[in-house]
Amino acid sequence: MELPELTVLSQQMTKELVGRRVVEVEVANPKCLNMPLNEFRNGLVGRAVESVKNRGKWLLINLGAGTSSSSVFDLLLFNPGMGADVIRFGPDEGLQEKHHIKIGFDDRSGFTVRVWWFCYLHLVSSSKLKEHRFVGHLGKSPLDEEFTLPYFRALLEKRKGRIKNFLVDQKNVAGIGNVYIQDILFNSKLHPTRRISTMNAKEIEALYHSMRSVLQESIAMGGLAYERNFFGDKGGFGADQFKIAYKLGRSCPICQTPIEKIKTGATSSFICPKCQKQP
Ligand SMILES: [Zn+2]
Repeated sequence: MELPELTVLSQQMTKELVGRRVVEVEVANPKCLNMPLNEFRNGLVGRAVESVKNRGKWLLINLGAGTSSSSVFDLLLFNPGMGADVIRFGPDEGLQEKHHIKIGFDDRSGFTVRVWWFCYLHLVSSSKLKEHRFVGHLGKSPLDEEFTLPYFRALLEKRKGRIKNFLVDQKNVAGIGNVYIQDILFNSKLHPTRRISTMNAKEIEALYHSMRSVLQESIAMGGLAYERNFFGDKGGFGADQFKIAYKLGRSCPICQTPIEKIKTGATSSFICPKCQKQP
């Protein structure tokens, strides 16, 4: 789950959850919490959802003042790790079979979370968000209003690293992971291991527009075709939309050269060896 999936999820959660009061909290693995389960439950039950937003790959669920609560915690943070199914259930509707988290609301609706690997579910005070070890250090997202081309140029200035590592580091740019980065780099004809210091102004501009257009296109299509949204439906962005990602051996859409899969540090990259020349 990357920026498009989290954006779609937060939009859908906004429509369904704002104004709903939490009445039930189940967490199968309290390791994902930032406090003991009892404390977490006490802090959450009775609170109403005021808004749901996302920042990169994080969901930020704002909680209004509770009925009895003198809790200083007013923000629920969720990060799906490698991925998660966050699925709504209505009153009298069944739950997804296997789930690790369940949050129920006063109208008997709610949602469950099935985590693929790990997740974070943190209850924090919004006034201390800057101190949060992950969200407090997130970069801006490519679709943020402030993420302009001059901002991006300044961000890349004097950086010595390699472009792929830089872009998937959430402290630099929030919301891009190993899925969308493939086509983002291909569109801008950049090899994943290209050193930032060797990129010229035209390449930076192409990269800027590629990031925005790939992410925007996916959001418009409801996110990835192999991940589920809040209503359990799959998105529309799939194999037909990807140009080279996950297309090992298929032809490059520009030059017909077979697409290769290479190791780039801890992750794999799909590239066209002709369009994305090794630096
Ligand atoms: Zn090519």
